[in-house]
Amino acid sequence: MKRTLQQRLQDGPVVCGEGYLFELERRGYLQAGSFVPEVALENPQALKQTYRDYMNAGSDVVLAFTYNAHREKMRIIGKEDLLEPLNREAIRLAKEVAQEHPTEEALVAGNVSNTNLFDPEDPASKEKVRSMFAEMLTWCKEEGVDFVNGETFYYYEEAQIALEEILKQDLPAVITLGVMGENKMRDGYEVDEACQKLQENGALVVGMNCFRGPATMQPYVNKIRETVDGYVAALPVPYRTTEEHPTFFNLPDGGCSCHLPTETTFPTSLDPLYCNRYEIANWAKEAYDVGVNYFGLCCGASPSMLREVAETVGREAVNSKYSPNMEKHFLFGSDESLKSHNTQFRTKA
Ligand SMILES: [Zn+2]
Repeated sequence: MKRTLQQRLQDGPVVCGEGYLFELERRGYLQAGSFVPEVALENPQALKQTYRDYMNAGSDVVLAFTYNAHREKMRIIGKEDLLEPLNREAIRLAKEVAQEHPTEEALVAGNVSNTNLFDPEDPASKEKVRSMFAEMLTWCKEEGVDFVNGETFYYYEEAQIALEEILKQDLPAVITLGVMGENKMRDGYEVDEACQKLQENGALVVGMNCFRGPATMQPYVNKIRETVDGYVAALPVPYRTTEEHPTFFNLPDGGCSCHLPTETTFPTSLDPLYCNRYEIANWAKEAYDVGVNYFGLCCGASPSMLREVAETVGREAVNSKYSPNMEKHFLFGSDESLKSHNTQFRTKA
């Protein structure tokens, strides 16, 4: 038997791996810039392996990779005809992988996200956004997802429209907000206020994802936790964002020795700005201690980082047997059979 999302949240922390966009770009199957997940149709095996890698690293959820797979984005790249097949295939592949889980079948989540079309001053844009969500959520329902994650919304009102359309399909909703450098929603709401409204309006889980690293996301997650009664989510990007540069969009690399072809280190030169996995673990512990319920990492995450999150919140991953153990390392190990001419050399190595 597989427990529902709500049952799992009652039982303890839930882990959800995200960040397919950056991970598949890194693996060579997706174009940075346009960032459209055609991979579900063009290289389904690559997508399945990525789903699998995140699940085996501790994700309870296989999140269907339909981020940006909405009508407007597909129109820009001239592939509107692929919209429905792409959405359905991304969910079907997620279901296949979820069933591979050796102990408890993973949950499958549908995904809608920021459309970049929403304009608070333009009522027509709101209707367009609503219809884009509605069609994707119809396919989610027909393909049998367990819940939907509406994510990376930087307008409260756009998140609210997504929530309404998810609830119309009678599916549980996890709604997470992306907060840019102004430190609030683009339509003026404080992030905890927006989360409270979304929760009151029926979201099962509310919180934040993307744009911000642990250091600049967690202070706002703390506010959400204080304000909201229900389940809270936090899925930062694994980068060393700072108060001066709170998001990964404008994160400088002081040590960069080359000319960047892009205006910013985002999105293709962020590598030296990564948090290490122990920094990620420290964040996960802090979030766990204040009562966050739904944990993950967003753009930039790797399976080993996600496993660190899962283990920090008390979960064992399928691949926990491969978690670091330096005992038998030839220089740094403590195993008695190791050669002392090596272990004594460790500081000079
Ligand atoms: Zn992200």
